Amino acid sequence: MSNPWQPDSWRKFNALQQPEWPNQDELQQVCKNLSSYPPLVFAGEVRSLSGHLKRVANGKAFLLQGGDCAESFGEFNANAIRDKLKILLQMAVILTYGGGRPIVKVGRIAGQFAKPRSSPTETQGDQTLPSFRGEMVNDPDFSESSRNPEPNRLERVYFQSASTLNLLRAFTSGGFADLHSLNNWTRDFVSNSPQGKRYAEIADKLTDALKFMDTVGINSTNTPVLHEVEYFTSHEALILDYEQALTREDSLTNEYYCCSAHMLWIGERTRQLDGAHVEFLRGVKNPIGVKLGPSATAEDALRLCDALNPQNIPGRLTFITRFGHNKVEENLPKLIRSIKQAGRSVIWSCDPMHGNTFTASSGYKTRNVDHVMSEIRSFFAVHKAEGTCPGGVHFELTGDAVTECVGGSHQVTEAHLPERYETTCDPRLNATQSLDIAFLITETLQD
Ligand code: PEP
Ligand code: MN
Repeated sequence: MSNPWQPDSWRKFNALQQPEWPNQDELQQVCKNLSSYPPLVFAGEVRSLSGHLKRVANGKAFLLQGGDCAESFGEFNANAIRDKLKILLQMAVILTYGGGRPIVKVGRIAGQFAKPRSSPTETQGDQTLPSFRGEMVNDPDFSESSRNPEPNRLERVYFQSASTLNLLRAFTSGGFADLHSLNNWTRDFVSNSPQGKRYAEIADKLTDALKFMDTVGINSTNTPVLHEVEYFTSHEALILDYEQALTREDSLTNEYYCCSAHMLWIGERTRQLDGAHVEFLRGVKNPIGVKLGPSATAEDALRLCDALNPQNIPGRLTFITRFGHNKVEENLPKLIRSIKQAGRSVIWSCDPMHGNTFTASSGYKTRNVDHVMSEIRSFFAVHKAEGTCPGGVHFELTGDAVTECVGGSHQVTEAHLPERYETTCDPRLNATQSLDIAFLITETLQD
């Protein structure tokens, strides 16, 4: 890795998964516009997240990261944003109550629009077209014109992300996330499910605790921490033209921050040590995640620490492992041991989604909640055996009652998949499945 880093030094490295933009002049103009627009997040907020993640790295807090596989231009409305925030906050309430550690809440939202693909093309019947690469690049509709990469989509992503962030900030500081209204959050389809009832019990107990505080003279109504919630954004930093255009030098510290989101991660397909994504992200101060699948070696993990966290700062680097439920025991211990032996600080987070995708006989891409739970259980068991700290979890989920993953307390079966299969990319847990899993994690944390 050559040293002096610049926001554009990645251009000298091999950048995988970048679209072949048809019109370079248009791309240049769009990037110029983006560089002149206000940042979406600011450095102070990113530093606040880094502080929280330091506590996660030291075993004092737990990271909950989740949201869509891919956000879309079509599903862009207040209810969808509210429900995605709500399900993550409900999971956080369950985890805080049951696990006893503060939860650091990070959405896959307000920028998660670009998808790495295993194959550059996709075939349906006798037609082969370029793959859908996320709405930052092209359109999911299966037609030739839809699949052309269009640079102006980068600007549309910026404005949709700005608007999404605006509502998220309003909700998290404007009373929606107030702990006093915990019970209101369950007045929906979840409320009649067994997990909804379990959630309501926790909400009742917390409401009683708040009443008790008021009774003994601790004014819970005027305590900001009970009214506001810190919620951060994240996405895969895939399309480097976009990420570079939103990178700014912080006037306070003269350090670079990628201001498209608070946290950014490198996907399983773009984590090459000599690749452009590692080069780009090593230079920004944001907390960084790296996905590690079954092909990751102990050596890869150590070299990623060298490249992305040479100063060994706790919380700077999160390894998000995604092996598949029956491969955790084989793959995770060797990575943990080499990192531990080398004295490197990383947050270990579990993505129980991406190693557990399969195609149902009907052709739908799906995941089984049992496999998701099994990967989580193995992840916790391995950490316990190795004496290391399971720092977090990473999910693809939505607040809606979609039928994209099978299993869970509502027993979605393969026959239900066509009913509400709405994702533009990978299958997401629905709201009840997400609560099922939050309860499972608290049970595992208490073991
Ligand atoms: C994703 O998180 O949507 C993704 C593509 O993950 P991975 O890089 O782990 O395959
Ligand atoms: Mn995905």
